[in-house]
Amino acid sequence: MSEKIEEKIHLLREELRQHNYNYYVLDNATISDYDFDIKLKELQTLEEQFPQYFDASSPTQRVGGEITKNFKTVTHKSRMYSLDNSYSIQDLQDWEKRIQKNIGSTNTEYTCELKYDGASINLTYSDGKLISAVTRGDGFQGDDVTTNIKTIKSIPLQLKGDFIDEFQIRGEIILPLDGFNKMNQKRVENGEEPYKNPRNTASGSLKLQDSAEVAQRPLDCLLYHIVSDKLPFKSHYETLENARKIGFKVPKAIKVCQSVNEVFEFINYWDKERHNLPYETDGIVVKVNNLQQQDELGFTAKAPRWAIAYKFKAEQESTILNEITYQVGRTGAITPVANLEPVQLAGTIVKRASLHNADQIAKLDIREKDTVFVEKGGEIIPKVVGVNLNLRPVDSEPTIYATHCPDCNTELVRKEGDAKHYCPNEYGCPTQITGRIQHFISRKAMNIDGLGAETVELLYKENLIRNYADLYDLKVEQIIPLERMAEKSAQNMITGIELSKQIPFEKVLFALGIRFVGETVAKKLAKHYKSIDNLMSATFEDLNSVDEIGERIAQSIIDFSNDLGNIHLINRLKFYGLQLELSEEVLGNQTEKLKGNIFVVSGVFHQMSRNELKKAIEDNGGKVSSSISKKTSFVVAGDNMGPSKREKAEKLEIKIINEQDFINLLN
Ligand code: AMP
Ligand code: ZN
Repeated sequence: MSEKIEEKIHLLREELRQHNYNYYVLDNATISDYDFDIKLKELQTLEEQFPQYFDASSPTQRVGGEITKNFKTVTHKSRMYSLDNSYSIQDLQDWEKRIQKNIGSTNTEYTCELKYDGASINLTYSDGKLISAVTRGDGFQGDDVTTNIKTIKSIPLQLKGDFIDEFQIRGEIILPLDGFNKMNQKRVENGEEPYKNPRNTASGSLKLQDSAEVAQRPLDCLLYHIVSDKLPFKSHYETLENARKIGFKVPKAIKVCQSVNEVFEFINYWDKERHNLPYETDGIVVKVNNLQQQDELGFTAKAPRWAIAYKFKAEQESTILNEITYQVGRTGAITPVANLEPVQLAGTIVKRASLHNADQIAKLDIREKDTVFVEKGGEIIPKVVGVNLNLRPVDSEPTIYATHCPDCNTELVRKEGDAKHYCPNEYGCPTQITGRIQHFISRKAMNIDGLGAETVELLYKENLIRNYADLYDLKVEQIIPLERMAEKSAQNMITGIELSKQIPFEKVLFALGIRFVGETVAKKLAKHYKSIDNLMSATFEDLNSVDEIGERIAQSIIDFSNDLGNIHLINRLKFYGLQLELSEEVLGNQTEKLKGNIFVVSGVFHQMSRNELKKAIEDNGGKVSSSISKKTSFVVAGDNMGPSKREKAEKLEIKIINEQDFINLLN
């Protein structure tokens, strides 16, 4: 009897899975909605009666219902990179030259795919089952949104056919236009504001707390990349074909091209045809097809070298510029803003656009009351790209750029060589003060949960904080009486602040908001100097001699370190117990054994992955370079190293060592 029931449950699951697949992936329904619902109900009833047969991958798990209050932050096993952009055939030809030089071969082939415009997602499968789904976040870590993702019907919970046991697959969660318009229609009928555009709505949907609500949204997932050490394929194209076979939705608009000219044909075709697609695309992604070549090429600090996005030309509209206003940033930089007569542009309504700086305004001779052209590029903020002089009012006057800070009214300064004006009132200008604290608590910095940008303003207004160190003195009793605060939220805030004391040094360094010290620079500095004390006592020459640290950054660090106010702030942070040096654990894995040596890594390895090898080089003080030159100290050669690379190394008489030699070198 029980065997029979188990079998019945299995059969129903199989059948429903297949119907789901036919409908949501193949877009080809093979059963009526009504019959589908009856079968689903039957399965639900059986599963309720016989909970011993529960399966997290059952089609019944797609209806949602589970609530997530806080999405867990998870570190990606392998980083989710961004893509470099290109805008012309020339850019693509330059890219081809670069990669061909890098791999030492002109034998290259490309795949072209549409660039799906949504929210990236990383799905992990094990033994054919969906284990987790994590958003891209900052590329290093994202949010675990598995419960919400499970409700998207085109994402298989259980794979079919021939799949590898363990892998991650990356794709884009999108909201097709049709579904998006229907959602908006309903909202308008209910008297609600319509959503602005499909992309933001898709990405917002992933962070809804109620998964049943997510299940109601017509989200879709288009896949474009498998990550695994054990891919049994030679090309990206084969990988995608396999992904399609095992159940994923991989769009058919993919082409293997032998040349950049052929790539450009694909681009031109889709530049027109994209307007007939059921979803939005903002470009084409071109990738080196051969996986071993991809591996050879590796990554820059931001993006893979083996891929490039081609961006379709941005859409433009013209509208009236009502007024130019000015904004102060956390560093005191002033940004002029165009306040526009609202205009519909690329699916969103635009009311404001950036004017960059005084030179830009002068160069384009932009004036209030002008009719201007507004463009939306890859950035979220649209920009003014020109003026329609024919429509300029007769009484128009040239723009006189602001002379004083819009916030604290201090006279603005502009240093030699700087594009922007600055408000020099660093410690008295409210926007700069709150801006610095907002940067400090932000996700990529101290990532303080329970405290947001608005609350920072409130705390500042109430005289509770004047700088980021003051956060660590806050008491629950001080917060509860504030507007919109309750005991629970106050407690959460204090807990969040307390937890930030564990944030590693490199992030703290970034959080300090030293001018020109972004995420990557902070990482470099943390690794090099190992503690804030070493960094702050370094000389200009010493700083400038660190790899990739130029004069501008060095001077900024010197200025920061010489400021008594900053010294006092850092001492307070130390006192509160923040991580102002690398942890023992990180230090323990680092040596200077390879100091002064530049390595080029090429080929396939066995004892460690190529990335582990590169990390080992860097952790031990060496430098990794992507191409062989006279400066190269060693080439670490694995299997199938490119013949022309080997030739080059031999010609320049550079030592070629194998994986084992390298390991010996370390020990
Ligand atoms: P960007 O965010 O502009 O740097 O572009 C990189 C993002 O494009 C990736 O993180 C992906 O989420 C997304 N993307 C969309 N379609 C593709 C595709 N076909 N191949 C690779 N990435 C894609
Ligand atoms: Zn100011």
